[in-house]
Amino acid sequence: MITALGFGIMSGDVLVERLQKIVGASGVLTDPALTASYTTDFTGGFGGPVRLVVRPGDTAEVAEVVRACAADGVPIIPQGGNTGLVGGGVPAPAGPAPVVLSLTRLTEIGPVDPIARQITVGAGVPLATLRAAIRDQGLDFGVDLAARDSATIGGMIATNAGGERVLRHGTTRACVAGIEAVLPDGQIIDRLAGLPKDNTGFDLTGLLAGSEGTLAVITRARLKLTPQLDHHVAALLALDSIGDALTALVRLRELPSLELAEFFFADGLDLVRAHASLPAPFRETYATYLLVECAGRTDPSDELMAVLEELDTVRDAAVAMTGPDRRRLAAYRELHTESINAQGVPLKLDVTVPMHELERFLADVRALVEGRATPYLFGHLAEGNIHVNLIGAADPEALADEVLHRVAAVGGSISAEHGVGRAKTRWLGLSRSAAEISAMRAVKSALDPQGILNPGVIFSD
Ligand SMILES: Cc1cc2nc3c(=O)[nH]c(=O)nc-3n(C[C@H](O)[C@H](O)[C@H](O)COP(=O)(O)OP(=O)(O)OC[C@H]3O[C@@H](n4cnc5c(N)ncnc54)[C@H](O)[C@@H]3O)c2cc1C
Repeated sequence: MITALGFGIMSGDVLVERLQKIVGASGVLTDPALTASYTTDFTGGFGGPVRLVVRPGDTAEVAEVVRACAADGVPIIPQGGNTGLVGGGVPAPAGPAPVVLSLTRLTEIGPVDPIARQITVGAGVPLATLRAAIRDQGLDFGVDLAARDSATIGGMIATNAGGERVLRHGTTRACVAGIEAVLPDGQIIDRLAGLPKDNTGFDLTGLLAGSEGTLAVITRARLKLTPQLDHHVAALLALDSIGDALTALVRLRELPSLELAEFFFADGLDLVRAHASLPAPFRETYATYLLVECAGRTDPSDELMAVLEELDTVRDAAVAMTGPDRRRLAAYRELHTESINAQGVPLKLDVTVPMHELERFLADVRALVEGRATPYLFGHLAEGNIHVNLIGAADPEALADEVLHRVAAVGGSISAEHGVGRAKTRWLGLSRSAAEISAMRAVKSALDPQGILNPGVIFSD
């Protein structure tokens, strides 16, 4: 829980003066009214006091800011759009008040390189802005997620965000050709050449993807682009069980145009409908829903319809061809996070389990939390990725512990796509061996011997 937000600082603070010289007076925020939105997360479940917020405008300023903070031993929290869901981009409730280093002014969008089909952008560019900027050149970026209007490219790389189109394009790491980043000692590494082949030692881009701001501050990224596919069709399938959804998925995956397969249940649909005043998608209520979308250079609706007709487990289907109709169907799934949040601060556990364990795991979780919290379960079917959201838990730590042990027992991961952040440091050992954690800690201390970048994130202090 949040204990305090946006503590002010004394005037005459030497660090403030030094940072103001680097980024200008308007780039340093100390007034609690201005820092408040940087110190608490999207869920309202994480946050704490901040010394100040600094907003550099380019890579050189980021490097100088990092050097100035390092010289004073002040912890730095890199922050993008602050849509992260594991508390990694906001201060901890206790400990030395850190500097939040906001990257949202790094919004440069370079020209598209049509031959390499790549683009270099600032870390602070929001995903939706990037996609809008390249659309008229017939290009798209492979990763998409519901927080697209605020989530930044830097934050997405730092968390190796997954999202809705992983089954077709992979996670963010797979869509990045290179990065520029500032190391904790202020040195800048530049891997923006975007060479598809370059085996000269360690892959630093791959290492920083998913490092959650603990190893370096990402300032620019070289992104791989994909052709914009103009023909889309979406379908919301009504099913009796997640087992039936998996049977449908096996057949649907034969379609090369398939790019999205998202599941949710009747209770989640009811919540979203009540929150957003949406009409029911079907006359009857069903236990399980699967939202699928296909995209291609030619209209994929005939091939999708042919598969749906074959699937006798599909009890009903709503098909959408136009953009507005597709968005109407997508809203039933995409509004889950927002609708759950509106109920209060949820316990959010983003996990993956092996596909053959999915159905049993979902039933186990419901049984485990019965009478202790209200569960809302939904997620990305093709990766066995479940967003376990629990509302009203009186004993959240104990419940999280039980659910995550269950995940580990079936060979899953305690974090599918949101990262470890501050939320799951305690359970890292359930998904990583002692040898792996020691190797990761060795990398952390080699790059950040002072421990100034995001202390308490991924690893417990
Ligand atoms: C409605 C909603 C839906 C979402 N759906 C998905 C989804 O489908 N899939 C998914 O993976 N996530 C999802 N998320 C989570 C979130 O959007 C992603 O984690 C996103 O990648 C975070 O980007 P951000 O810019 O907001 O990062 P922030 O929240 O600001 O930061 C996240 C982490 O990255 C670090 N960081 C940020 N920028 C940098 C940088 N430039 N350099 C170094 N470290 C940095 C921070 O320190 C922190 O540890 C969702 C969130 C919301 C609110």
